[in-house]
Amino acid sequence: MPQLAPLRSVLEEARELLAAADNDFTWSSWQDSDDALNEIDTLLAELRSGVAPSILTLHVLFAPTGPIQEVSLSSGWGDAFIALAERFDAAMASEQLDDSENQQPEPREACTCFAAPATGLFTVKELGLDSRLAEVSVLICQECGQHWLRYLYEVEAFTGSGRWYLGAITPEQFATLAVERAKAVLEGLGWYYYGGSYFQGHNGRTSGTVMLSP
Ligand SMILES: [Zn+2]
Repeated sequence: MPQLAPLRSVLEEARELLAAADNDFTWSSWQDSDDALNEIDTLLAELRSGVAPSILTLHVLFAPTGPIQEVSLSSGWGDAFIALAERFDAAMASEQLDDSENQQPEPREACTCFAAPATGLFTVKELGLDSRLAEVSVLICQECGQHWLRYLYEVEAFTGSGRWYLGAITPEQFATLAVERAKAVLEGLGWYYYGGSYFQGHNGRTSGTVMLSP
């Protein structure tokens, strides 16, 4: 039975922030505050009854481009969100929630490259630019031989738009990888790392759609 208490307190805090009267929901996927609170309450009810909610749902919710961040940026509590997202990452990392949807290739997860975006990666293949002008390459961990798909995107005209994503792929995925499929492959993974100037130098894990608007 996973320990769900830290996750519950993160969600309760998110609920408090989302319940503030002057929040702006225009740019989020939620209609309004009731819509947002309903979603959080459903997750909280699951947690209170000892059920681990879908990891994917949670990651989407707390992702750097997810709905809570959109509300936080429009409503002036962006910093509070970043602090909360860090606690979310820590809670998720410590809990090992079980979710069969999110099976990652696991033979080498003991390696440090699965604990943080590793420095000991070297490029094995440059696939070039895709149609969105993102630079696609595959790196390999010198320690364990894990393949990592790197997706690098920057709009030169916008400072702070640079972002990279790094996801663990299988040798089969590497062998059949086409540049135009790279984004979809990344989005199909259970999780991937993100970082870069767009995230104010923060990095961490996320999953789901890679947003490329500047
Ligand atoms: Zn490794």
